Amino acid sequence: MKEVIISVKKEFVNKYKKGYSLILEEALVNPMVLKEEGQLITFIDDKKAFLGKGYYGKQNKGCGWILSNSKNSNVDYKFFYDKLRNAFSKRMKYYHSRDTSAFRVFNGEGDGIGGLTIDYFDEYYLITWYSKGMYGFKEYIIKAIKALVSFDGIYEKKRFEENGMVVDEDSYLCGKKAPEPLIVKENGVNFAIYLNDGAMVGVFLDQKEVRKSIKEKYSKNKRILNTFSYTGAFSMAAAKGGAITTSVDLASRSLEKTTENFKINNIDSEKHEIIVEDIFQYFKRAKKEELKFDVVILDPPSFATSKDNRFSAAKDYKDLMKSAIEITEDEGVIVASTNCATFNMAKFKKFIDDAFKELHKNYGILEEHSLPEDFAVTEKFPEGNYLKVVFVRVY
Ligand code: SAH
Repeated sequence: MKEVIISVKKEFVNKYKKGYSLILEEALVNPMVLKEEGQLITFIDDKKAFLGKGYYGKQNKGCGWILSNSKNSNVDYKFFYDKLRNAFSKRMKYYHSRDTSAFRVFNGEGDGIGGLTIDYFDEYYLITWYSKGMYGFKEYIIKAIKALVSFDGIYEKKRFEENGMVVDEDSYLCGKKAPEPLIVKENGVNFAIYLNDGAMVGVFLDQKEVRKSIKEKYSKNKRILNTFSYTGAFSMAAAKGGAITTSVDLASRSLEKTTENFKINNIDSEKHEIIVEDIFQYFKRAKKEELKFDVVILDPPSFATSKDNRFSAAKDYKDLMKSAIEITEDEGVIVASTNCATFNMAKFKKFIDDAFKELHKNYGILEEHSLPEDFAVTEKFPEGNYLKVVFVRVY
């Protein structure tokens, strides 16, 4: 494919000189030369000096990524191989772990290639392509994985066809087919994984440190409410740590998935509550019935629409927090989490602070988390560190 040269607008030159890695269309003088995704681009400044090399690939944000700031590097097979080798070798601690068999081995721009992530699930690799352009490098990526590691099988998700959603199609790529479920471990907790069942495979690996903390420090003999519970991953960590859990999720699949996760952890699911209900209904009911929990976990999606409610983390987190405070015991703990990339930690803490102020309650921050080590981030793209988790004690 023909490589194209693009000039960066003067007002953006400094940003890209500092290494910013996301290509923004509004920063380009001549974006019209971008015709085919996967095209390689050389960026120059207003004085025609070299800025970087990248590729064209439309995502929900940006239209590609800078891959190198060095004039001499070629974006070829060796380039991808070196990036993958470097990333995989940084995860040796996880590969060698006896109680963790699921983690991220390649985290997009954090490992030097925006638009690509690779997760490891006990001898299986799951590749996620975030643009058609990135997908164009598929041959190199597969070849590099095969050269670097042994595995049972590879699966893939294309996050670029329907507005960044995964289209419902076969995710199997090569090697052996994975068992369904494939059972993986994270800090001694088992999770059932379905590599070929739509966009979400059963667990969000970016919460490993938060789950570990809940299990080790906040669970023993506690009653824990897990909201937006999905497959009950937080409930498993809590139950393993000695808590009695209540999991609430709107999706009916959550009942079966959460029961299955209890089963593979040898926990009697009858001792725990799994409720399929709109969480906003549940909060109303819990308040009326004066239910109280020692720990409430809030981990909503950034946006959610249900029959009666529309939730946006950026607009509604404060109210969500207020609902949680109302059903948390005095001296209890709220684990407030968000993966919303449109606000930062300072703003997130402000939502939490406002919620307590409006209810005339006090609190203390116990812990703060962002992405774990395997979700590598780069200072060249700070927005990539989207996860924000705050543990607060309610007084
Ligand atoms: N906290 C989970 C991940 C949440 S994924 C974990 O750690 O694994 C988002 C979940 O929120 C989905 O399972 C979805 O069904 C659920 N959800 C969305 N809107 C909801 C609502 N109004 N009430 C309850 N659950 C909701």
